[in-house]
Amino acid sequence: MGPLFLIVEDDLQISNFIKFSLDSQGYSCLEASTGKAALNALANEPVTTIILDLGLPDMDGLEIIKKVRTFSDLPIIVVSARDQDAEKVEALDAGADDYLTKPFSIKELLARIRVIFRHTGAQDKEVQSVYKFADLEIDLAKHRVMVRGKEVHFTPIEFNVLALLLKNYGKVLTHKYILKEVWGSALDNDVQSLRVFMANIRRKLEENPAKPRYIITEVGVGYRFADE
Ligand code: CA
Repeated sequence: MGPLFLIVEDDLQISNFIKFSLDSQGYSCLEASTGKAALNALANEPVTTIILDLGLPDMDGLEIIKKVRTFSDLPIIVVSARDQDAEKVEALDAGADDYLTKPFSIKELLARIRVIFRHTGAQDKEVQSVYKFADLEIDLAKHRVMVRGKEVHFTPIEFNVLALLLKNYGKVLTHKYILKEVWGSALDNDVQSLRVFMANIRRKLEENPAKPRYIITEVGVGYRFADE
């Protein structure tokens, strides 16, 4: 069976627009205009991906993310008019996979969905070890980073940060998430240290560190590995 989307959105125009676009890609969709209807659908239908608005009439979308995460890791893409960095961070830290600020283009939404499908599809297979891009080849198992044909030395922490970004290809990782995964909780809020590590990694990886191609900054939120 193919993917089944649940669109949780109280603005019917936007909901219909998303549904129309997903239908046109051959995806099946359900719609819910309240948090209650969304939780109901999740309990009764084989939903595989959620597109979630945060401002719902009966519930905050964040609550839905937290509830869903207690029983499932199915992909959640937030689409919200809330454009404050703190709100994006909150949604991502609660367990959302990605975040789009309204107004967004449908092209952008479909691109994010493809990334998430690629990412979650990979979970069933063996863990990917080698990542190849135009001028990079990174072998996680061998701890080897080749940049434009030359092996470049990465310190263990730099390598762990890079590996974390790669394993979450296309996904925004918040500062807090990266710090927690790489350093444990000790450096929980040390965003400044993280910036220094990122600058070093970029200097080693990017042809033009001032205009990174691979390690993209999501201002005020975190970082994303992409090939843009
Ligand atoms: Ca709304």
